[in-house]
Amino acid sequence: MGQAFDPKGLRKRAAGVLGLGRSGRAVARLLAKKGFRVLGSDSRPRAALKPEMARMPARVKWEWGGHSDRLLQCAFVVKSPGLKPDLPILRRLAQKGIPVYSELEAALAFSKAKGVVAVTGTNGKSTTAALTHAIFRAGLPRGRRTLLAGNIGVPVSEVAPSAKPADALILEVSSYQLEDSAHFEPRAAAILNLTADHLDHHGSMEAYVAAKAKVFREQGPGDSCVFNADDPAVYKLSRECPSRRLYFGRKAPHVHAWEEGGKLRFRLPGWRNEAALTPPRLPGRHNLENAMAAGLLAFARGLKSAAVQKGFRGFKGVAHRLQDCGAVRGVRCVDDSKATNVDSTVVALRAFETQGKRLLLILGGLHKGSPYAPLKPGIEKSVKGILTIGSAARRIEEDLSGLVPIFPCGTLETAVDAALRVAAKGDVLLLSPACASFDQFKDFEDRGNRFQALVSAAARRR
Ligand code: ADP
Repeated sequence: MGQAFDPKGLRKRAAGVLGLGRSGRAVARLLAKKGFRVLGSDSRPRAALKPEMARMPARVKWEWGGHSDRLLQCAFVVKSPGLKPDLPILRRLAQKGIPVYSELEAALAFSKAKGVVAVTGTNGKSTTAALTHAIFRAGLPRGRRTLLAGNIGVPVSEVAPSAKPADALILEVSSYQLEDSAHFEPRAAAILNLTADHLDHHGSMEAYVAAKAKVFREQGPGDSCVFNADDPAVYKLSRECPSRRLYFGRKAPHVHAWEEGGKLRFRLPGWRNEAALTPPRLPGRHNLENAMAAGLLAFARGLKSAAVQKGFRGFKGVAHRLQDCGAVRGVRCVDDSKATNVDSTVVALRAFETQGKRLLLILGGLHKGSPYAPLKPGIEKSVKGILTIGSAARRIEEDLSGLVPIFPCGTLETAVDAALRVAAKGDVLLLSPACASFDQFKDFEDRGNRFQALVSAAARRR
């Protein structure tokens, strides 16, 4: 482990920022505000960066089209999440002994917040972080705020520096953010699940797991970390955790949160009685797991059952994650545009498996490389027709042929229109595409918003 980032005494020197995406720009602005001269560096062409960089403070200079040796003059460099760990500039910085910090670590070095809570895992991070935030909002006394940041869309650098010591800072942290963080010490953390993802970036499952483990590595005995006891990789990793371990899973009484009789039950070490709470109204077992994790994080930080229950009750889910977006002629429409990989769509189908063969499923977009066959069991149980869109359509049609009727539609407009034409009352139209969106949309949010607009327009027409 390297040294913790301590900005004191470095102010007169230049700070480098590698990567000028949203969080790179946010940390560049923060460092400039704190008195550093900043050199931003990005491999993209000038024209792609100019519109945003033109709005930067004068202290931020920037270079484009690659990373020059000017970075080697910096006192330290902040690396944006997502940049490959094998970039040649990183090797040169290491040879010169110039420390490289993550955006997360740099942002927290300027924050007074003592109550940092971090959520990581392969799937469910945004939902769990947003639910945890909702619980804290319900439970923190007046004058103490809860702030939500990280992978969920707002860079930590934009939020953490304004936090007061008593505020709660809820962070959704990805493996990218963790891999470069030598010192990250949340008071409470959660690892929801671990399946192979982003392996092209990390190089191996071991490296991916090692990045996730940094969420608890620097914790102390007074801190807590929440683990999914039913996920073998998470359970195995939990044995390396130095802080108090809290588990959720199916095997009561060996876990601290479980589901029984329609209630989520919590019992932390030292409690005499268990708390039985009504779960949030979200579809699927996976959302019960997210709620158990959020509840344990809140209890670990001393919140009371009433706050957790209030947070559960008021929570409507996060946009584009199995989001109910209204009905057209008795056909419920569900936006799961965030399902950008096959695993997420498997989870979505599982959430509907008790309702019979009622789903019209829109699949497709940009193919990400993995086969669609894992969708077969869920399709056999719950799907009555598939509508394909985007460049992955042919591959999907080949992988899933012979199960249910498949309608090649090309665009989302055609798919929504065709689905609503064949659907019967009581059916569900589900956009859970199992693909990236970039062939036809700006991003998954754009795709989901477009879907919701089409649904609203159809509802108005009928
Ligand atoms: P993330 O922020 O990790 O991408 P989200 O909360 O945005 O996670 O959920 C993304 C998708 O992942 C959901 O649409 C759902 O299909 C799936 N998912 C959510 N929670 C879980 C979970 N606990 N286990 C497995 N899959 C999940």
